[in-house]
Amino acid sequence: MIASVLQYLVENPYLLGITVLLTVFILALSVLFSGPKPAKNPFCPKHVRPVGHLVSDQKERDRVLKQRFKADKVPENLDTVIIGSGIGGLSVGVLLARAGKKVLVLEQHDQAGGCCHTFHDKGFEFDTGVHYIGKMEPHDDDRVLMDQVTGGRVEYPRMDEAYDIVAMGDPHQEKVRKYPFLSDEKKLKENLIRCFPKEKDAIESFFKLLRESRNFFEGYFVLKLLPKWLARLLISTGLFNIVFKSYAKFGRITLKKVLEELTEDEELKGTLSYIFGDYGVVPSRCPFGLHTTVMRHYFSGAYYIRGGPSEVPFQMVQVIEELGGKVLVNAPVSEIIMNSGRAVGVKVQKGDSQVEIYAENIVTDAGVSNTFLCMLPKEVATKSSLYPLINKLGESLSYMTVFIGLNGTKEELGIQAHNCWSFTRPDLEQAFQDYIGMPLDKVRDAEVPMMFVSFPSAKDPTWHDRNPDKSTCLLITLSKYSWFQQWEEGRVKHRGEDYEDLKTIIGKKMLQHCIKLYPNIEGKVEYFDVGTPLSNKYYLGFQHGEMYGLDHNMQRFLPEPAIQLRAKTDIPGLYLTGQDIMSAGLTGALFGGLLCASELLHRNLYNDLQALKKELKKSS
Ligand SMILES: Cc1cc2nc3c(=O)[nH]c(=O)nc-3n(C[C@H](O)[C@H](O)[C@H](O)COP(=O)(O)OP(=O)(O)OC[C@H]3O[C@@H](n4cnc5c(N)ncnc54)[C@H](O)[C@@H]3O)c2cc1C
Repeated sequence: MIASVLQYLVENPYLLGITVLLTVFILALSVLFSGPKPAKNPFCPKHVRPVGHLVSDQKERDRVLKQRFKADKVPENLDTVIIGSGIGGLSVGVLLARAGKKVLVLEQHDQAGGCCHTFHDKGFEFDTGVHYIGKMEPHDDDRVLMDQVTGGRVEYPRMDEAYDIVAMGDPHQEKVRKYPFLSDEKKLKENLIRCFPKEKDAIESFFKLLRESRNFFEGYFVLKLLPKWLARLLISTGLFNIVFKSYAKFGRITLKKVLEELTEDEELKGTLSYIFGDYGVVPSRCPFGLHTTVMRHYFSGAYYIRGGPSEVPFQMVQVIEELGGKVLVNAPVSEIIMNSGRAVGVKVQKGDSQVEIYAENIVTDAGVSNTFLCMLPKEVATKSSLYPLINKLGESLSYMTVFIGLNGTKEELGIQAHNCWSFTRPDLEQAFQDYIGMPLDKVRDAEVPMMFVSFPSAKDPTWHDRNPDKSTCLLITLSKYSWFQQWEEGRVKHRGEDYEDLKTIIGKKMLQHCIKLYPNIEGKVEYFDVGTPLSNKYYLGFQHGEMYGLDHNMQRFLPEPAIQLRAKTDIPGLYLTGQDIMSAGLTGALFGGLLCASELLHRNLYNDLQALKKELKKSS
């Protein structure tokens, strides 16, 4: 074989010339663009330890998750300060710490975890921003990475096979039609065909497109992983679109357009669009590839987190601290300190004064808008190429959550380890636009047209040991910051009667709607509270209570914004992590952390992760 190749080259000497020239060119490029020496690989099979017993003593958990900021707790000689303790911030913290770096994570809220935080009130425990995740089979990329950053100490119980139920119709007016979404592509398709027999062809075509678009996200991810210049070169020469066909094709067509071409059946179109709440963009503004990526995410099963989502930060904080780092809460960063054009530190607001902390690099998990509009000096922020993107993409929608504590077990209440997506009308986008376009006085009387129902207690096998005879339910709907803006200056829990009235009216409507869907919960409600866009602002630090940071519209997934929204900013010393540089979702933000740590450690951690997977497969 080698001999025949050599003979061919001797017979065609010009090929030899081209090969030599190409090699020299590639070598020259790699010398020109090679950065500093790569740091230590943070991945290792040994980092995964056996899952221990679940720590349910609240004081013990608080000792880890609620360490209040004090200047004398800040470690010396910091390599990196990370603003925000969501999964995006903590994952960078763990990966850097594993590579030998000294990190400090600063969180504005009174506990670490961001969207993973849970809270206790009047004997009930509620999760907030994680209700299910996919891809948690042992050799899935997402699972291997989760295990590395949590030390393998977190378990992911599987939810029911029908993990999502779509409930179509107004439960106050008609019998609701239920469509289960099953965690098996073939069964799901067959079941949909059973429900919509006349639409067999449309459903077959939809699933064909689902398969065809399966590499959409790979293309999007690679644009962020490659050096900017190379990503732009590949895009401008058209080479990228040849290799990542699916990214090119399904990033430029909306979910709405695809469905319109497949069918005229409104109920089917609505049913196939139901999961748009997971990324917060209506079908006419959402790239088809994003929608199918989220749908496919659950095809091998949907999972919850044993002990609730706060188990993830609980384990990650311990890993960071075992390696000499620190995670401190009640530490709102008010400013990023600049020196000669470089980000060199942060100011933490403590009452009327500020504590300055310096480090080699500053990472922010607080979102692009917060970072550029609230933390960087204006003259620095406005010069960055990221600044115009904030307006161009806009922010994601806000939301409201109803927290319900119930008397009774899962069996008594007839609740299951699934989510229910309820839509009063199949034309869900129009129903949503009608609702969100309402002035405040109309909102009080309006029925909420869409609602996500989750029963965290039913998804966690450890729940009933910890909380006998009690259950929980969460109702989430999209909402508008401006409806609540008049109370934004008020203190949390002291915003006055009008505010309480408004949120209670909307929350009660949602509860009545839920009782129609799950009648056994009637009369069992022991706890009821409602979170508004102002609550989200308070707990997660988003200026307008946004659900998923920057909006996930078509624009965001086009090549140039995709290239720009990356870990390394054009401000020396400043790096981004979390959902804004990848996508919403626990694992979206986690991979944001992987990208960020790759930049800071000067190594391609995606390749390292693949190598680790191979090693794990060999040894299993
Ligand atoms: C209601 C809701 C439901 C969701 N459901 C799911 C789900 O079921 N499955 C799923 O996979 N994903 C879900 N998501 C999305 C997912 O939780 C998020 O995309 C992901 O957790 C975001 O992680 P992050 O690290 O990027 O940001 P965050 O978790 O938002 O963390 C950012 C952190 O920065 C802190 N911060 C902000 N400003 C400052 C400052 N000035 N100083 C210090 N700290 C600051 C915030 O307090 C916060 O802790 C949901 C999100 C929401 C809101």
